Amino acid sequence: PMIETGWNFDNSYARLPESLFTRINPVPVHSPKVIILNDQLATSLGLTVQSLQSNDGAAVLAGNEIPEGALPLAQAYAGHQFGHFNRLGDGRAHLLGEQITPAGMRVDIQLKGSGRTPYSRGGDGRAALGPMLREYIISEAMYALGIPTTRSLAVVTTGESIFRETEQPGAILTRVAASHLRVATFQFASKFGSVQDLRALADYTLQRHFPEVEAAAENRYLLLLQEVFKRQAVLISKWQLVGFIHGVMNTDNMAISGETIDYGPCAFMDAYDPATVFSSIDKQGRYAYGNQPYIAAWNLARFAETLLPLLHDDEAQAVKQAEDAIASFSEVYHRNWFAGMRAKLGIFNEEQQDESLIKDLLTMMQKFNADYTNTFRALTFDKPEETALFGTTEFVQWHEQWQERLGRQQETKDSSNQLMRSSNPAIIPRNHRVEDALEAAVKQGDYSVMERLLDVLSRPYAHSTEQADYYTLPELSDRPYQTFCGT
Ligand code: AMP
Ligand code: MG
Ligand code: MG
Repeated sequence: PMIETGWNFDNSYARLPESLFTRINPVPVHSPKVIILNDQLATSLGLTVQSLQSNDGAAVLAGNEIPEGALPLAQAYAGHQFGHFNRLGDGRAHLLGEQITPAGMRVDIQLKGSGRTPYSRGGDGRAALGPMLREYIISEAMYALGIPTTRSLAVVTTGESIFRETEQPGAILTRVAASHLRVATFQFASKFGSVQDLRALADYTLQRHFPEVEAAAENRYLLLLQEVFKRQAVLISKWQLVGFIHGVMNTDNMAISGETIDYGPCAFMDAYDPATVFSSIDKQGRYAYGNQPYIAAWNLARFAETLLPLLHDDEAQAVKQAEDAIASFSEVYHRNWFAGMRAKLGIFNEEQQDESLIKDLLTMMQKFNADYTNTFRALTFDKPEETALFGTTEFVQWHEQWQERLGRQQETKDSSNQLMRSSNPAIIPRNHRVEDALEAAVKQGDYSVMERLLDVLSRPYAHSTEQADYYTLPELSDRPYQTFCGT
């Protein structure tokens, strides 16, 4: 008997000017097998878990079967990778369409690792199991932390090997996103499309992500620019507050929706240091933790440039508008970061000295190599463990100042603690934990380590002792942790 699947596709992207994409089906794989499925996400999308787990479901998640209503395509884009402009596009991904959920939301369903497209350049169009599981773990951790992000619905293995440095099991990730519109989508339209294409793209984006902006509003493209800037400022402040390092903030990896997208060599910082870089390909530290706000502003300036012809007939006026928007980014970013930092310290209102209170703590953390997450967690629970930082007179003095500061606000100590508990995660996806989970999965076919990790990561603010062994830091090694680009 047929199992009801729940697919409910629309294909609005396919109605855009055709320079922006290529209609193409995924390349079938040998023997698809679902190895992880996000039951809760599936249900919220209106999909039945039972059908996704069946052979038919696996065939859809592998691109072997096209579900009814889907119209697969690869998107075109072009943008700056480490500062250099390249013509890109989905070289190993297919957008199946947009699922309209029971709640009436529209989300992209995209397969990643689903075969070659006209944008593949030299690539094989495929993805390895390790990196796809890594994207699944980190994106779901980000979601649980309350950070806007694309989601992961499933990973299937393909039954085929792919070749990187070594032979690896092939896999396909199903990514769910508010959309896959990127800064680089606009760069593509601006550089290779007509002004009509660009306008169609901008109008589409407004309709899809900023429906509150009236379609007839004369300044709607300026509003688009400002709103995208705002969302990115909020997003990057959230990254900084939890110590997330994206690792490859190229303009093709910056989503217009304000979601975190494309989990390649990303990782969470352990010891606080603005210069932290994990990515093996980021030799210059372009995308270091402390650089992320500046890189975001740089990327957004590239976005603003693409909109110039739409902003104003007079170029000087258009440039002025774009410059004002760019200038406002750092203000909005800083305001959000500052508010988040005050919350991490249990502070409700704003006092002039708050900023130096925060900076002093960060400076000490850097000086004494203090773990970023664990330091804030310890402050939350008033449990200074034996660390190099907590024993110092500097810290004792700072702690006194902080307590005095908390004493000056109206709110009770209890509500202050509650604010801290909801602002300081107990659990982040520690690099060594993620590596352990991936190793067990990829090398031994043992998914239990990952399942347990995913479970713990789904409650990052639950400070239960049962999870305490996930607080521990990796053993010191003389080789710094490195992540490799998701391939
Ligand atoms: P990423 O580093 O994942 O953001 O990818 C950058 C660009 O390279 C995008 O256009 C990808 O589609 C493309 N790409 C990455 N890996 C592959 C691959 N194995 N085959 C084809 N294209 C790829
Ligand atoms: Mg086309
Ligand atoms: Mg990318």
